[in-house]
Amino acid sequence: MPISEFDIIARYFSQATAARDDVVLGIGDDAALIDPPAGQQLAVAIDTLVAGVHFPLETDPYDIGWKALAVNLSDLAAMGAQPAWLTLSLTLEDPDERWLTAFSRGLSELARQAGVQLVGGDTTRGPLTVTVQVAGYLPPGQALMRQGAAPGDEIWVSGTLGDAALGLRLVQGELEASHSAGEQLCQRLNRPQPRLPLGIALRGIASSCIDISDGLLADLEHLCTAVDCGASLQYADLPLSSTARQLIETDPGLGDLPLIGGDDYELCFTAPAKWHGDIQALATQLVCPLTCIGRIELESGIRCFEQDGRPRSVTGQGYRHFSESS
Ligand code: ADP
Ligand code: MG
Repeated sequence: MPISEFDIIARYFSQATAARDDVVLGIGDDAALIDPPAGQQLAVAIDTLVAGVHFPLETDPYDIGWKALAVNLSDLAAMGAQPAWLTLSLTLEDPDERWLTAFSRGLSELARQAGVQLVGGDTTRGPLTVTVQVAGYLPPGQALMRQGAAPGDEIWVSGTLGDAALGLRLVQGELEASHSAGEQLCQRLNRPQPRLPLGIALRGIASSCIDISDGLLADLEHLCTAVDCGASLQYADLPLSSTARQLIETDPGLGDLPLIGGDDYELCFTAPAKWHGDIQALATQLVCPLTCIGRIELESGIRCFEQDGRPRSVTGQGYRHFSESS
């Protein structure tokens, strides 16, 4: 007999995540009841992953569970919020117990790591689609928003850029790399680590912030257009993993990926130059690489320069679901 919706919930989701004291009533009733922390603002985000669009059909279900939550937590990180609760809407063609076991493990391991509790959801039959909604909280007035940068502000990014895009090319058979390089890149593609402590530490420091899901240029453009400004970047300053650096040296045609490749889930933020030293200290304290890659300027548009000062022309752009050309 096929497993019922209620068995799925009981077996794979009811006890899977962190248990929080502020959840008055979790999975099982018509709605969850939560006691949010007094005096805090709620931050809420939702993201959907569709099989064949956001991940290849053969992706390990553990990674699908992990990533569905990770991309949402990354949105909360970009707001400077402390995550707390999540809901899950799961559409499955055919409830396969091995698939559900791995999926729920991936989701719950990250949920426990981040201290978030699954408080409800919905389970339906249809083409594989995973929607996760997360909620968190932060002190009023302290959210990091896309809007807020000013000319002269420095532009920073966390971690390294382009690894996930290289990983995707590898998975799609368009790129060859050594076994260990491949493992590293696929880890970056499938198990993004949301920059939660960094987002919280940037409250009061960053003038604007966004997480890099569609590619550095596309996401930085959001920070720029929000304040009618532009930016200039130094290509040589972009932080690359040693793996990415080697692959790009071998095939310079991959050199735009750190600028336009999506799925890195690093934070891109701006801050007045007076915070430069404090941000460097934060990098050490959080053991999170933070690199200054350029500046916000009055002139609109994003300009990228080579080491010798020549402008770098960039082909392609970040991923867009509904662009006119695709
Ligand atoms: P209703 O019909 O009232 O919407 P459901 O039968 O869909 O309720 O769900 C029963 C309970 O199980 C609810 O508390 C719901 O939030 C929870 N739930 C359903 N699917 C999931 C899921 N995939 N993950 C977590 N909780 C779920
Ligand atoms: Mg329902």
